[in-house]
Amino acid sequence: MPILLVVGGGLFGSLAAAYARRQGIEAVVFDCQRSGAASPAAAGLFKEAWAGRKLGEHYRQALPVLERLCGLQSVLLQHDDGSPESFLFVPPRLILEPNPVRAEVTAVGDGWLEAAGQRHEGWVYLAAGVWSGAFMPGLEVHGKAGAAFAFAGERAGRIHPYAYGRQALAFVRDPGQTYFSDGTAERVYEDKHERESLLRAAALGLTDAPCRRYWGQRPYTPGGPLFVQRSPRTWVATGGRKMGTILGASFARRLVEEELR
Ligand SMILES: Cc1cc2nc3c(=O)[nH]c(=O)nc-3n(C[C@H](O)[C@H](O)[C@H](O)COP(=O)(O)OP(=O)(O)OC[C@H]3O[C@@H](n4cnc5c(N)ncnc54)[C@H](O)[C@@H]3O)c2cc1C
Repeated sequence: MPILLVVGGGLFGSLAAAYARRQGIEAVVFDCQRSGAASPAAAGLFKEAWAGRKLGEHYRQALPVLERLCGLQSVLLQHDDGSPESFLFVPPRLILEPNPVRAEVTAVGDGWLEAAGQRHEGWVYLAAGVWSGAFMPGLEVHGKAGAAFAFAGERAGRIHPYAYGRQALAFVRDPGQTYFSDGTAERVYEDKHERESLLRAAALGLTDAPCRRYWGQRPYTPGGPLFVQRSPRTWVATGGRKMGTILGASFARRLVEEELR
């Protein structure tokens, strides 16, 4: 059986590799740590209402995959009036490939890729986020950038909706820290966006200096998330937008259960 060669060790690529291994397929992930990769910045939250009718099927397909691979967690965030809101949650650190091959993939063809001057053969899954267009001429993918911040110490979960479809939220994503993000997603990210995000963090009580800043570009493709067979042994998946955990898991299932034969 061919091995699976995955380009990109973000949520999309890591979930595909992990699910393939679960099904007995050997997988190798290549990731060259591009600055602006989305996945390390992700909160890792999701709920059915966010998926809506358009992405509802992905949501249903994704849950058993995530449960099997990492276990589903839930987290309770409190609104300003004290009412709780519950989310499902998988921290990115439980998903992301721990030891990918740290090399840039420089060329890809049907059933092969080149990295660090070496050619590798197998099934190829291109999951390179906003950089996916480099491997598929004509593919339109653009980034919408946002920052997230970690603050020292574990604080109670909070949520504060501040505009239609936008909410500032703070919770313990990783032990010993409180993670903050506010859904900022800009094609042109400027200093003022950063300042506004930090003001929203302060309004949730996170007034000290962050101990870590994350900045990532969510991949958007016109017409919705994209999963396409580019040639007989090569597939492309991207367009995770604000739902990368769910979409990455749903596409991992599709790749492994429906395409790799
Ligand atoms: C602040 C923020 C908060 C978010 N919160 C959530 C959330 O709560 N829930 C949710 O579901 N989603 C969330 N998202 C969205 C989610 O992060 C993205 O949808 C998802 O991470 C996209 O994953 P990806 O694997 O497609 O892309 P990426 O994570 O960008 O990964 C692509 C990888 O490909 C690698 N790469 C690119 N080119 C090459 C090459 N030539 N050779 C080798 N490697 C290459 C890069 O280094 C990168 O690691 C959030 C995003 C941001 C920015």
